[in-house]
Amino acid sequence: MPRRTKIVATIGPATDSLERLEAILRAGVDVARINFSHGAAEEHIARVLRFREAAERVGKVAGVMADLPGPKLRVKLTAARELIPGDSVTFSLSHEPCHCDDLILTEPEILADVRPCQRMLLDDGRLQLEAASLGSGQLKATVVVGGTLKPNKGLNLPDTPLTIATITPRDRVALEIAARAGVDWVAVSFVRGPEAADDVRAACAAVGMKVPVLAKIERPEAVSRAVAIVAAFDAIMVARGDLGVEMPLERVPTVQKMLIAEARLAGKPVITATDMLDSMRENPRPTRAEASDVANAIFDGTDAVMLSGETAVGMYPVEAVTCMHRIAVETEAHIHAAGIVGAAGYFHPEAGIDDPITLAACNLAREIGAAAIVTPTLSGRTARLIVRHRPGAQVVAVAPTDAIVRGLALVWGIAGVRMSPTAPGADRLAAAVQDAYRVGAVAPGALVVLLAGHPIEGGPHFPTVRVVRVGPGGESGEP
Ligand code: ATP
Ligand code: MG
Ligand code: MG
Repeated sequence: MPRRTKIVATIGPATDSLERLEAILRAGVDVARINFSHGAAEEHIARVLRFREAAERVGKVAGVMADLPGPKLRVKLTAARELIPGDSVTFSLSHEPCHCDDLILTEPEILADVRPCQRMLLDDGRLQLEAASLGSGQLKATVVVGGTLKPNKGLNLPDTPLTIATITPRDRVALEIAARAGVDWVAVSFVRGPEAADDVRAACAAVGMKVPVLAKIERPEAVSRAVAIVAAFDAIMVARGDLGVEMPLERVPTVQKMLIAEARLAGKPVITATDMLDSMRENPRPTRAEASDVANAIFDGTDAVMLSGETAVGMYPVEAVTCMHRIAVETEAHIHAAGIVGAAGYFHPEAGIDDPITLAACNLAREIGAAAIVTPTLSGRTARLIVRHRPGAQVVAVAPTDAIVRGLALVWGIAGVRMSPTAPGADRLAAAVQDAYRVGAVAPGALVVLLAGHPIEGGPHFPTVRVVRVGPGGESGEP
């Protein structure tokens, strides 16, 4: 049984060569994430194209996710700077420094909202400042927890109410580049409410792009509005880096469990992200705590686990992916043996008949020991509803476009296959088995459960479950 949990890897300078990209794909990467907060437009486009080429060479269906910077303040620095506790640092309120050592932000005007004694947290909270005074084009702050501030690190203002828009001018530029590069997912940073989904879809449309959109949950407002955000977006990410800075750190594990449960209830994929194998940036082996973190996210029911700096700038990107793959395989084997994650146990409130029938297909597959559940799906929705129930059988989604097939690379347990064109009146279930057979997703002799909402091409909605045994040429034989 192939690994069911998907692996997202941020690609960057450490994974720039074609060989490295092929290596991380072979090691298990399903989706590449491009963080538009770092690097130049041309780099991003080149990275996407190289990743596509590597996937082609490896013969693997893999997706690409553009992660928009969002209204995240970052410090523009040309070289690393040492911050010593007790020292005073100044930020410029404009894009120009007043003094040569002023720190400049990507959106400096925000600093006008900061009041004395409010916390200013740098680099996912690794460095901490306290605002002291505001005046004459500058904000002065005192270093509380020091360290090395590297270029382009984020600044969080957890005590300061922010008025900045969800989709910033920088995001619109990033979307234009993403559209030129051709991506499969767009992730939105610092989502505060469900309205952001319409905003980002409109911004995508403005650059001629129609792709599923993912909300990064990293603000307290987003946690309290999680149900509405999950409903409005196509997927979510538990973005623990900023979440652990914007909220008390001790709440992150329970918020992670709650968010994963909400996403699964809605049949939307969820990524658990940040610091999963962080020590592997510099070490070939992770800590025991990190190995447990990856496993526990899988126990929580996450669709995908993500690598950030480990693969973008780390010294051991291939090892990090290999390690994540091995932890996932081992954890899934245990879950399967112990039966810990089974049927979702509740029906999807809006899916109507399609949800009980997907559960029935999963139960049937288990009863008869089917090797796979094959489903022709126009949008991917039926396949997503099936895997909500975390079936033991492989789920093969046969979808009409490469974009949908690659988009499903993010979803737990789904192998995406491209659908061949069928004539009106054709049997779409038999055609789906042929397509799955053609790419090796089902083998001759395998017992397969088929499920479709529209079993006849161009026909009415007749939710249908069928059992077949795959014939020597991929035909649907008697079970
Ligand atoms: P986010 O809050 O969106 O996760 P981040 O700054 O934490 O942003 P990650 O994508 O999590 O960034 O990556 C971790 C670190 O890896 C970054 O802080 C940065 O130092 C480095 N990095 C990531 N992508 C790139 C890139 N394309 N070029 C250079 N450095 C990168
Ligand atoms: Mg990060
Ligand atoms: Mg973030």
